[in-house]
Amino acid sequence: MRAVLFTGRGEVRVASVAEPLISDPGDAVVRVRRAAVCGTDLHTVAHAEHVPLGTVLGHEFVGEIAEVGPAVQGHALGDLVVGADFTACGTCWWCRRGDHWECPRRRFFGTGASFGPALAGAQAELVRVPFADTVLRPVPAGVGLDAAVFLGDTLATGYAAVRRAELQPGDTVVVVGGGPVGQLASLVAQACGAGIVVVVEPVADRRGLAVSEGAVGTDPDRAREVVEHLTEGRGADAVIDAIGGPPGLDTAFALVRRRGVIVSVGVHADPAWPMPVGRAFADELTLRFAIGDLMRDGEALLALVRSGAVDPTVVASETVPLDGAPDAYRRMAERRTLKSLIAF
Ligand SMILES: [Zn+2]
Ligand SMILES: [Zn+2]
Repeated sequence: MRAVLFTGRGEVRVASVAEPLISDPGDAVVRVRRAAVCGTDLHTVAHAEHVPLGTVLGHEFVGEIAEVGPAVQGHALGDLVVGADFTACGTCWWCRRGDHWECPRRRFFGTGASFGPALAGAQAELVRVPFADTVLRPVPAGVGLDAAVFLGDTLATGYAAVRRAELQPGDTVVVVGGGPVGQLASLVAQACGAGIVVVVEPVADRRGLAVSEGAVGTDPDRAREVVEHLTEGRGADAVIDAIGGPPGLDTAFALVRRRGVIVSVGVHADPAWPMPVGRAFADELTLRFAIGDLMRDGEALLALVRSGAVDPTVVASETVPLDGAPDAYRRMAERRTLKSLIAF
């Protein structure tokens, strides 16, 4: 089969590799119909720690069940399914609580050994999915392929951010970063009762998309002024950091009101950051981190999409065939596109 492979720092190629086989009774093999390219893929290719050459990339996918192991009960051949971006056993103490990310059997598709033992990715004609009854979710009629492919990561992450912010109706929410996750966090916040959502983003096109999708857009330099104007000087009730690292957290602290909530869903590579604890204490701030989980939140995500409350396809810049994936990676890395889908 053909797949997108990591072939060297900063380099991806489409090439032929062996087809995946059922290796555990709980496995399924999925024939991929849509895969998406994610910022995590760009990071994996650019930094390449723990990623062997020849790794099949990608972790966002929707497709049809092509083969099931003898223990799989919930899926039949031909069923349309969407995959979570990581695997979990579904039966351990953590999984029973819905905390799949903490599962000791976690593996993350297409990222080498970065988040658990390596597991081949989903930018491929076929992908093997361990614990298929837990990791795969049926895609109901009325949810298209181009929307379903967002459920496994980008929309799940935006949703996790909004849920952890525990919004009250009418809240003013700031989203730091207008990348795909930030854009979808804005849409979910609007669907979940936010009064005003402000997206802080330096790139004009991304700001423009946020505004056309119902948010207030601002450049980072003017963010404090805009938020103060909208909140009578108080600051935002909740801030979602969708860029990560010290800049995301610093911006969030600068914009949150007293007793407000910050939820960070951006990726953090730095081991430490000087938290403004004096202010956090005096203003009784809450800082949380969240990771998306289709296995936990799938019903809510499907309801948001199926009802029309959220249309995740607004962040898809282009759909390319498999052979176009390397160029699509390049355009995304150069920020000429927001998000690329691969059609099979
Ligand atoms: Zn992703
Ligand atoms: Zn588990």
